[in-house]
Amino acid sequence: MSDTDSFPPFVLRPPFDDSGADIILRSSEGIDFRVHRLVLSLASPFFKDMFNLPQPKGEAETPVISMSESALVLDRALRFWYPGAEPLTGETLGELRDTLEALILKYDMGFLVPVAKSRLRAQMANDPVSVFAISCRHGWRDVAIEAAKTSLQFPIRDLDLDSPRPAHLTEMTADTYYSLLVYHLECASVATSATSSLKWASYPDDYPSKDCKMPQCALDREGGTREFANEQKASLRLWHANYLKTLGEILGRTPGASPRSFELLALPTCVSCNRGLTRFSAALQAHIEREINSVELSNLISESL
Ligand SMILES: [Zn+2]
Repeated sequence: MSDTDSFPPFVLRPPFDDSGADIILRSSEGIDFRVHRLVLSLASPFFKDMFNLPQPKGEAETPVISMSESALVLDRALRFWYPGAEPLTGETLGELRDTLEALILKYDMGFLVPVAKSRLRAQMANDPVSVFAISCRHGWRDVAIEAAKTSLQFPIRDLDLDSPRPAHLTEMTADTYYSLLVYHLECASVATSATSSLKWASYPDDYPSKDCKMPQCALDREGGTREFANEQKASLRLWHANYLKTLGEILGRTPGASPRSFELLALPTCVSCNRGLTRFSAALQAHIEREINSVELSNLISESL
């Protein structure tokens, strides 16, 4: 055991101090977890196979299995599923990653996959790239796809010299990371295209200034006319052109951003245009969502799994 660690010493808590246990899992630093052979056998093919091997006879003491996991990892992993054990809460994504690495990949506890996915999804909004990496590691395409889509709300292609190196880079191969970046870039491309070309929008239904009679809603003289669907052309108001330009820059970094949530950037100067803006941004958002859904995410990820 190491007593030089800066962390508080590990304290073994029930039910892993059970004097009636028939097997001991010894952590890497020598902490003994007293557990039951039958419970481990039912949960893990790994332990079932181990216990099926001929056991030494005549030993009075409880057999010991030396584990490579630390006591903290072992405690967290056992509390994930062990009957009667109080589950730990407030885990970090790194702790969850280590727990799943042991339970799912090493000890083959496939019955835990649904709850493992649920715990991963709970962390998705905070760090979708790490959730993507962990999902790919386990081959969970459904969670990986959700995480990739959630990553569209984050500027994950921005490099910032002042930021610490992202932890997720060590959790996946360069090929997997590249697939995610390409997906993010393709989605950014279709989202920004929707702001630079309005051929997806119908005229006059999606033209926000169709009823505008106010001179203060100046035309975008530099922008000239824009083409809508079916080769219909119309001049945009200046507020509309500026809104599309700023929104295009935002979507280029975060293609999952919602056009509706940026309506305040538009500043139309009449009530009619304001109502038109609401219609337009809703139509734009629906169009971008359809375009993003058509980006071939599954192919990108299948190469990584
Ligand atoms: Zn107007």
